[in-house]
Amino acid sequence: MSTHLDNSAALCVLSSSSGGNCSVLVLSCEGRRVLWLIDLGLSPRRTRVLLQQVGLADVPVGGVLLTHLDHDHMHQGWIGGLPDSWRVMLHGRHERRGRAMGLLTQPVDVYDDEFTLGARIGERSRTDVRVSPAVAAHDDLGSVAFRIATDVGDVGFVTDVGRPTQQLIDHLWGVEVLAVESNYCPQMQTASLRPAFLKDRITSGRGHLSNQQSARMVKAISPASDVVLLHLSRECNTPALAQQHHAHAGLRVTVASPQEPTPLVAVRRVQTRCRVPATLWG
Ligand SMILES: [Zn+2]
Repeated sequence: MSTHLDNSAALCVLSSSSGGNCSVLVLSCEGRRVLWLIDLGLSPRRTRVLLQQVGLADVPVGGVLLTHLDHDHMHQGWIGGLPDSWRVMLHGRHERRGRAMGLLTQPVDVYDDEFTLGARIGERSRTDVRVSPAVAAHDDLGSVAFRIATDVGDVGFVTDVGRPTQQLIDHLWGVEVLAVESNYCPQMQTASLRPAFLKDRITSGRGHLSNQQSARMVKAISPASDVVLLHLSRECNTPALAQQHHAHAGLRVTVASPQEPTPLVAVRRVQTRCRVPATLWG
């Protein structure tokens, strides 16, 4: 049990869509704050503007967790210009692609297993924030789902995952806050004028989660307090459609948008939880 009684953590999605994804985890420890960005899919300028909009522009950035390197998660504008003080965490699965993109011309921490954050919150103040990765099916290289364990509760972050799997559910089960993609409405996808190859890629099980698949994941993962819906398709989804699947789940639901940041979603451990095994189908 932590002795840091004034620690806190919160998640804010600055922007999320196929036009660019960037979220921010705000870690506070004994009055000091540090930000960890999750994905860098917006230009450096837009990222700064949105951080300013949510009042976080002056908070130091500890580093970045990258789910994968598609252009909507790693904006070209950052290549070669990442601040030296940031720790950039890249899964080994993405190292080759990162090198080809020019991302590894500056220091990048390549990992394959669990790692910790938070050592940079001042000299004395530390939180032991542990990040556990799991690689999910997405295109050829996969996307990394993070379980981020803070002193005040766990955050699950999973996007561009192709399909719900038991591996992902086991990995993220019982987090306090779950951020999960809810990409498309199947009817809108079918009716859209998108080319067949694109529809196939998205719905193939190696593309994105539909609203229904996302809701099944949420039900099985059983987050304690909050769900944050990510990466809604602008063409084949609406916030109301994505949200309706969670109406009776007893969770606070936040829908991320491309236009403006979400409110800060606080991470708070819920004490009395019935811990039963969860399956996708149960
Ligand atoms: Zn994406």
